[in-house]
Amino acid sequence: MPLHDKNSIRDLVDDEIYASSDMSVSMPKYKFPLQEHSPRDVYSAVHDELMLDGNSRQNLATFCQTWAEPEVHKLMDECMDKNMVDKDEYPQTAEIEGRCVHMLADLWNSPDAANTIGCSTTGSSEAAMLGGMAMKRAWEAKRKAAGKSIDKPNLVTGPVQVCWHKFARYWDIELREVPMEGDRLILNAEEVVRRCDENTIGVVPTLGVTFTCQYEPVKEIADALDQLQESTGLDIRMHVDGASGGFLAPFCAPDLVWDFRIPRVKSINASGHKFGLAPLGVGWAIWREEADLPEEEIFWVNYLGGNMRDIALNFSRPGGQIVCQYYNFLRLGHEGYRKIHTACYETAKYIAGEVAKLGPFDVIYDGDMASGIPALCWKLKEGVDPGFSLYDFADRLRARGWQVPAYSLPPKREDLAIQRILVRHGVSRDLGSLLVEDMKRAIDYYKSHPVHTPMSADEASGFHH
Ligand SMILES: *Cc1c(COP(=O)(O)O)cnc(C)c1O
Repeated sequence: MPLHDKNSIRDLVDDEIYASSDMSVSMPKYKFPLQEHSPRDVYSAVHDELMLDGNSRQNLATFCQTWAEPEVHKLMDECMDKNMVDKDEYPQTAEIEGRCVHMLADLWNSPDAANTIGCSTTGSSEAAMLGGMAMKRAWEAKRKAAGKSIDKPNLVTGPVQVCWHKFARYWDIELREVPMEGDRLILNAEEVVRRCDENTIGVVPTLGVTFTCQYEPVKEIADALDQLQESTGLDIRMHVDGASGGFLAPFCAPDLVWDFRIPRVKSINASGHKFGLAPLGVGWAIWREEADLPEEEIFWVNYLGGNMRDIALNFSRPGGQIVCQYYNFLRLGHEGYRKIHTACYETAKYIAGEVAKLGPFDVIYDGDMASGIPALCWKLKEGVDPGFSLYDFADRLRARGWQVPAYSLPPKREDLAIQRILVRHGVSRDLGSLLVEDMKRAIDYYKSHPVHTPMSADEASGFHH
């Protein structure tokens, strides 16, 4: 349930919050303030409100960064005024963005990393939108050149993050989302090929599926599409949603072939603010080669007397996150990213081992470096009634501040509820063992206080992707 709805706000509209130390200063909550207030009073009021947000370090639902080095805080402060769109006024920030693009193209094995094309975005959602639009434009150009219609585009994916549902809806594209089936919770090549036809603008495998955290088999799908091209002539491009995996596989699964080493992979998106370890608000969209981004998607803006590409959807955008992304690239390099992420995988494995020992749970994914991201998920053992649902379990853990979401899977496994933990930089082994202790306490609690009416998904904390 949302914290506020119209009616409850109407009831509270005359409520006031109190800020000054002697409680004499009041401020309105929902009406636009009539007077000004002192910075100290306002700061303490706002600061206190934020306390109720909970502790982000114990938020094991998010993929996003919740820990940063002091130097990152400093750089963010120094960059408060940098607008990413003002490439003329902040040419060095623009240069830094460009360097990051080439570093990523290099990391993802672009055959022409120094010359390829890409941009920063506010996150993977915007980057996915850009990658999706390029697929659509490229498909349209090919169809037009062949004198064919362009009114029925479709996109083939596995169980995707909501940004792809948005892309399909905003651009009137039929989303052919391969449903889960039995124990197959990700995409496979056979199911992809079955859904491809002349109207398919592209195929999007995910490197780190939101629901179960596993990598989809990019290479196997690419090989199947090669075969499809041989037998039918259909040449279907791929975009990899590497929101999480794009910043993990290059360091921790270097032999996994998923990136621009596969010629059919024309573009990749990744979230800098997830395993890229940058502060919230940065993602990346990179194309394999310059020619893979259709001209129609590029706006040319005048920049220091020259012409500069503008690809992103937003106009004004903060530059600090991009500067800090660059800081991280220099600060960590391959070595540092590998160390940090490897520690996270080890912690995920450790927690998964402990969760398996608790009794009522079956681990579905245990944080295996070669097959997914540093995370784990589990379900209740079949045919066993532990006296609680996963939603109850999540609720009980929340009492100690842990946010460990329970949710049901997408079609056609809505029947299956699972629980998931993301292990990020800052979720240490120590924190993991404290969590396991609290899990044991929660199970014991339900042993002595069995739940007669288990909590349903609707009543649970409302975690959505
Ligand atoms: C998080 C995520 C997204 C959306 O990324 P944002 O950076 O939050 O916009 C897209 N796809 C996958 C697989 C994700 O995990």
